Amino acid sequence: MANEYLNRFRNIGIAAHIDAGKTTTTERILYYTGRTHNIGEVHEGAATMDWMAQERERGITITAAATTAHWVRHGTDYTVNIIDTPGHVDFTIEVERSMRVLDGAVAVFDSSQGVEPQSETVWRQADRYGVPRIAFANKMDKTGASFELVINDIKERLGAIPAPVQYPMGEESDFKGIIDIVRMRAYTYTNDLGTDIQEHDIPEQFMDKVQEMRAQLIEAAAEVDEEVMMMYLEGEEPSVEQIVAALRKGTIAQKIFPVLCGSALKNKGVQLLLDAVIDYLPSPLEVPAIKGTTEEGGSKEFPADDAGDLAALAFKIMSDPYVGRLTFVRIYSGTMKSGSYVQNTTKGKRERVGRLLKMHANQREEVQELKAGELGAVIGLKDAGTGNTLIGEDDEFVALESIEVPEPVIT
Ligand code: GDP
Repeated sequence: MANEYLNRFRNIGIAAHIDAGKTTTTERILYYTGRTHNIGEVHEGAATMDWMAQERERGITITAAATTAHWVRHGTDYTVNIIDTPGHVDFTIEVERSMRVLDGAVAVFDSSQGVEPQSETVWRQADRYGVPRIAFANKMDKTGASFELVINDIKERLGAIPAPVQYPMGEESDFKGIIDIVRMRAYTYTNDLGTDIQEHDIPEQFMDKVQEMRAQLIEAAAEVDEEVMMMYLEGEEPSVEQIVAALRKGTIAQKIFPVLCGSALKNKGVQLLLDAVIDYLPSPLEVPAIKGTTEEGGSKEFPADDAGDLAALAFKIMSDPYVGRLTFVRIYSGTMKSGSYVQNTTKGKRERVGRLLKMHANQREEVQELKAGELGAVIGLKDAGTGNTLIGEDDEFVALESIEVPEPVIT
């Protein structure tokens, strides 16, 4: 099937209010994804930390507007593009811009604080852009951490239906690991880097609570999936695959929000979070096609298809000391080729695409083309600004959905 590669894509943002642990979570994600893919030579211990420190100095990890990573799930290699979503309310307009180019998000919460007012702002922005989400209750190791506080706040403050797919083994300084409520397995971390994970049965002391939460989870899955509903009504136990499929459907429809837990700082739970990104968040084929407005005021859709007409959005301009102006783009449809010409319909200009880059955490990869569903940086566009539409040189005028001016934010 053409475009089948898109099933293995996840374009996600990590959204959080300042201090919830977005940076730490992102760094860990990049560390673990790098380990399984292109930085196999980096070993545990000091080298890892050096690598992260170096990256921080070079600013690539933190400042790349879109970083391409890889994660293997059930033997399949997935491409996970992580789009930077600024956490500070001052950057609200930037948050909104980034929301447009991602297909799903991880909302990070500080478990000792629950849902804070600024997390609520980010959540509402994601609502407005219809972004499916999973929630990560971070800082489970911190004094005052409470998984149930986060669950209740999601329900009460955000008015959303949480689907807790995990449960912490202990909280605060007793936090030892994670129970997967869907699969009914427990994971304990036995080294400081969180790379040595032991899978085992659920300890007896957590069983009652886990059973209770599992019953709630299946009820939530039943609400969004008829097959699970039938089984639920007949008192039958759905399989793991059925539960995952139902939760995935409910998440993509934004009817439910899987909730996970962990501690990014203590390296606990981040790999399971990556698994959940693959399991529950949509591929570019599962989100509504972006629309554009034609010259006559008509509407044109651009389904994700690398053989379709080119439709791309510039979402961030950065200045790089080595290569100059970098224009970060998301390709919705078609293929952008290096050395080709594109029309910038927002500016009414024809521009030459110079070199194309995919930004990885620890390196930049020069590529010849960026296909539908991909994100990367273009060197050589002189006029493109944030929010500009780029289409094929000979294609008819179209402007991708404009960015609405956000409502004022009261904090
Ligand atoms: P950001 O502002 O959301 O990017 O948050 P940071 O990742 O910079 O984290 C803010 C502070 O919380 C830092 O001091 C981190 O070390 C700390 N932090 C992040 N994750 C955890 C965690 O899981 N547990 C604890 N105890 N502290 C954390």
